[in-house]
Amino acid sequence: MSKIQMKTPLVEIDGDEMTRVLWPIIKKKLIMPFVDLKTEYYDLGMKKRDETDDQITIDAANAIIKYGVGVKNATITPNEPRVKEYSLKKQWKSPNGTIRAILDGTVFRKPILVNNIKPSVSTWKKPIIVGRHAYGDIYKNAEIFAENGGKLEIRVTDKNGNVKSETIIDINETTIVQGVHNTISSIKSFARACFEYSLDQKVDCWFGTKDTISKTYDQTFKKTFEEIFETEYKEKFTAAGIEYFYTLIDDVVARIMKCDGGILWICKNYDGDVMSDMVASAFGSLAMMTSVLVSPKGYFEYEAAHGTVQKHYYKYLKGEKTSTNPVALIYAWTGALRKRGELDGIYELCSFADRLDKAVITVIESGVMTGDLAAICNPKAKQVVNSEDFIQAIATIL
Ligand code: NAP
Ligand code: MG
Repeated sequence: MSKIQMKTPLVEIDGDEMTRVLWPIIKKKLIMPFVDLKTEYYDLGMKKRDETDDQITIDAANAIIKYGVGVKNATITPNEPRVKEYSLKKQWKSPNGTIRAILDGTVFRKPILVNNIKPSVSTWKKPIIVGRHAYGDIYKNAEIFAENGGKLEIRVTDKNGNVKSETIIDINETTIVQGVHNTISSIKSFARACFEYSLDQKVDCWFGTKDTISKTYDQTFKKTFEEIFETEYKEKFTAAGIEYFYTLIDDVVARIMKCDGGILWICKNYDGDVMSDMVASAFGSLAMMTSVLVSPKGYFEYEAAHGTVQKHYYKYLKGEKTSTNPVALIYAWTGALRKRGELDGIYELCSFADRLDKAVITVIESGVMTGDLAAICNPKAKQVVNSEDFIQAIATIL
């Protein structure tokens, strides 16, 4: 059998710990026997980021802009203990944050469903996809702990020196204060990314904010979405037979618990951070969640939604075989290969990605799975395997 040829390289972004151990096994067993894999490799392992003063992360993001599609492994976001563990020069920023800021994206997270794992919410039959805005709000805030309180104000001084200010409150006791922002251009990109994704997946999309309380901030999200929908997407949605629905965030949450799924749930940054974990956990596991960053300029970065699975890595270092679930990593690869195939018109690459996805599902539905899934599946697992044996079982079916 001749291997499937690629035209353009994928930007391959490697990471840390247990997911770094699984990465080459997935490539070797599941992809390279079938695809003449072309990648441009960026090592975002902790050591390399430290050595290059994090320049490697910026280079990787720019490579995605150059080629269009990247696949990223999970990476450590260093905190104080990590600085000691890896003798780092400093607490480098989150690589995901850096890449998202450069690509100006929206993150879409979609659960992978199998018939032997039932969602905790009994009405959910189809995936609920969470579309999370990845810029601003509390993730780029300023905060003050004011011991004696005081006159709390927000103030904007524009480049001509004009000042706009508002008093929040004048208060005489210890107070906490937070200032957040977003930009209209980022909100517009967010809206377009969500509407494009809905059209691509042919699913309705729902958006909710707290616009009744937040009459400038959240209402601007609401109005910007409305405007872009009416002027750019309404006809396309009608033609595709799908809907855009806006309501208060409380109402969305209530409706989500009663719906049967098959929708894109558009969330502001913090809502998406929290709600995507709730949705992932209710559908089974973070390791059964795909994640893609879509930029308004048409760049795509595929990744797993989970981290580097640190606890498993320490067991691995002691020589133990771990039952770490590689499904989200495999789907990151198939997502990237399929998109590359679409962009370059390589039908075989798209269909290979579909078959690999299907092989993964077939193995799990046959009762062979990693420990995390065995704990929640019904009927009971026939065989609980380590990561390598699980990947081998997929390779055999493939
Ligand atoms: P984690 O890697 O998501 O793992 C947390 C726990 O979830 C694991 O201990 C494991 O539970 C379970 N789990 C997650 N993925 C699994 C998988 N594929 N198979 C089986 N079980 C899985 O989070 P963490 O260990 O708290 O964080 C480790 C590092 O990851 C941190 O340094 C953090 O900065 C980084 N991180 C990176 C990303 C990213 O790059 N996208 C995202 C989040 C976190 P059990 O131990 O009970 O088996
Ligand atoms: Mg979160």
